[in-house]
Amino acid sequence: MKRIAFPYQQFLPSKVLINLILFIKLILLVPSAYALEHIEVTGTENGLRLGENFEIWHDPTGKTSLVDARLALADQNFGKLKSKGSTGLKPGSFWSHFYIKNTSNQAIELDIEYVDHQLISLQAYQGVANSPAEFSKISDLALYNAFSERQIAHHRFVFPTIIPANATAEYFVKYNSDKAGYIFPDLRIWHPDNLRVAQSLETGLTAFLLGGLFLMSLFTLVSGITAKGWVFYSYSIYAFAKLVAWCTILGYTHQFILRDNFHWSYMSLGGAFAIFSGLFFARVFLQTRRFTKKLDYILLFMMANAAVLFVSALFKITAVSILSITLALLLYPLVPIIGIIRWRQGSIEALIFSLAWLFLATGLVLQALRDLGYIEHNFINYYWPPVFSFMEILVAMIAIGFRINSFRNEKEKAEKEAHTDELTGINNRRSFFLNAEELFAKFKNRSHPFSVLMFDIDHFKLINDEYGHAAGDKVLQVFSEFIMSKIRDEDIFGRLGGEEFALIVSNSEKDAVAQMADRLRNDISELEVKHCHNTIKITVSIGVAHLDNEQHLDELVSRADKALYHAKSMGRNRLELAL
Ligand code: GH3
Ligand code: MG
Ligand code: MG
Repeated sequence: MKRIAFPYQQFLPSKVLINLILFIKLILLVPSAYALEHIEVTGTENGLRLGENFEIWHDPTGKTSLVDARLALADQNFGKLKSKGSTGLKPGSFWSHFYIKNTSNQAIELDIEYVDHQLISLQAYQGVANSPAEFSKISDLALYNAFSERQIAHHRFVFPTIIPANATAEYFVKYNSDKAGYIFPDLRIWHPDNLRVAQSLETGLTAFLLGGLFLMSLFTLVSGITAKGWVFYSYSIYAFAKLVAWCTILGYTHQFILRDNFHWSYMSLGGAFAIFSGLFFARVFLQTRRFTKKLDYILLFMMANAAVLFVSALFKITAVSILSITLALLLYPLVPIIGIIRWRQGSIEALIFSLAWLFLATGLVLQALRDLGYIEHNFINYYWPPVFSFMEILVAMIAIGFRINSFRNEKEKAEKEAHTDELTGINNRRSFFLNAEELFAKFKNRSHPFSVLMFDIDHFKLINDEYGHAAGDKVLQVFSEFIMSKIRDEDIFGRLGGEEFALIVSNSEKDAVAQMADRLRNDISELEVKHCHNTIKITVSIGVAHLDNEQHLDELVSRADKALYHAKSMGRNRLELAL
């Protein structure tokens, strides 16, 4: 840390003539239209703000020197800041002028901190109040300078000052924002130790937010690798881009990573990267390419615009950057609208996604209001954008949770559909044979009983002909329900096709199975199926085969089938045992 002692030994190249003019002007000075209060300090300050006690002057060229500023002051060109903290988007530089009075009996050392991160460079000059000559440059801070050159190692601009006992020091601070920028010409005054405490607290809180982003990025990256989904990858990239953008915008990239070669355009690059990856995530998450082709073009256009922003920031084409960022912000509200359209199409997670974007939008709006000077620049308002940005990522993660859930439900549904018969809800042919084969494998070489029952509804064609196809369907449903209600959980029942069904009964003795089957046949003959004022009566023929020495299920099924044909040929509504 370099502290510059006051009074500064080396005077500025202020020419005698200019000093003379200044001196005369200062003597002749007409009293100001308002009194500029001297901020009083004792050396224990803990972030005391200048508040209203400074006056500013706009230099659109950004090229003026301290002498010009002092002449402007003498000419009464300085004035109060009219907005709540921001100068608004203006080119060039702003000069600020204020006094700090040391009311204690000893010289004190203070650190003076610029309240925002959006500043390209700052120069500070200190003099003795109302003494025209003795001004010295006490600080020259710039984003393009190596971080190690900073007098105070802080992620925002801070400069030290020493005020002699009972003296009033006068200051001129020049805030520079390259071609155009927002300036918040307020400063915080700290006892150096207090600044240190506040800084570690702030860095700790920020590390919590940034660490959260890092973990979410890492977690979804790992999920992407295991679950192979672009939703995870795009989210992971997005969270990482946010981490990079906020780390850079808030000044930590300069402080900890690119200490020697930082450039302010990295903030824009980080922002462009976050916007691009956010839109990419939106596109993947909302599946616009698949479901809403036209809306997909909007997102693609916005992504292209973010790419333009990135390139223009890279090559420092400011005009294009400003145009592109304005377009990006104007189009931003379309994203949650697309989310709401996707929600109307039945995707609940798209609604949560829109909620996440609402957080993002809130953060952006608050930032814009602060930048334009409509809301105050204080610690809370300063942190809304990154906090809302964090909230967005968090809510987007909840949306991903919902997405995984609905994926799983869809998969389960598809699996169930693949296994069940649509009309009756029981096993279809494929599922019946899958389950039956599995059970058969356990029984084929053992002495435990295993039986196959084949059912075929008698003269089913006549039912269709007489009462209609719908009545036939109803019969099939009632028949299935009835059998299901009569069998045990471990029995396997399925529809093999048309009005043919099969049942596997295991661990029941031959006689018991035959009795059970005949009871079923009899009960079915007594069933009354009601359909459209009609009462339909049915009968069923059943063929039964018990496992003997068969090595394949097909052989057993085929024996049961033959028994069934036999039952048909013997007059129907009867049970036949396989030979
Ligand atoms: P049998 O006593 O010899 O078994 O005579 P059946 O009329 O029952 O046998 P057949 O095989 O000649 O006719 C089966 C009929 O079942 C023909 C077909 O239209 C009907 N069918 C097949 N699947 C369905 C269905 O899902 N719903 C309805 N309503 N009818 C079906
Ligand atoms: Mg048939
Ligand atoms: Mg039949």
